Amino acid sequence: MLRVASLYWRKVLLCTLSCLVVATLPSEAQLVRDWHSVKTPHFEIISRHDPEKIRPLLSDLEWARSVFEANLGFKSRIDREVLILIPDSPLEYEQMSPSKFVAGYYKAAPWRDLIVLRDLQDARHGLLHEFTHLVLHHEGGRWPAWYNEGTAEFFAEMRRTDKGVEVGRPDGHRISILASGAWIPISYVVNLESPSLLTGR
Ligand SMILES: [Zn+2]
Repeated sequence: MLRVASLYWRKVLLCTLSCLVVATLPSEAQLVRDWHSVKTPHFEIISRHDPEKIRPLLSDLEWARSVFEANLGFKSRIDREVLILIPDSPLEYEQMSPSKFVAGYYKAAPWRDLIVLRDLQDARHGLLHEFTHLVLHHEGGRWPAWYNEGTAEFFAEMRRTDKGVEVGRPDGHRISILASGAWIPISYVVNLESPSLLTGR
């Protein structure tokens, strides 16, 4: 009898301790650290995300930049550092974004190139997409919206391979939209003036 009671109270104690441990664990929001900057020679990301999640993104951006420079003759004002901002929350992002429906945007400020992302979800795709907009902007000219967005999507899934670089890989999210959504007339696409009307970025 005593043994049963002892086991019972031991279980109660363990449950209580477990609950205390769970209650004192930080929530997902609390895991976000203070604002900080992570930098490489050509990019700087300011966010509250774990730097260990940020560094691979910057590494991929530096690699993409070198691909553009070496293979496409990209010689723009690339010596100035690109500032990338990931705001504190979706609400904060929507307050500064030209459209709350886009997942990121590029802005060529006179003093610096700026890329803003809504969050870290699909961040690699978003950064390469926006960086391609940056490249096209510095190449000059007024690109049609369909060309601007199409080129950004073309390079957004750029990857290293054993043979070099692979570009143009279809994005699964886009494919599912194409497969399920209604297609719009090509005349509408080629006459669009704003890229943000064409895609979610
Ligand atoms: Zn875009």
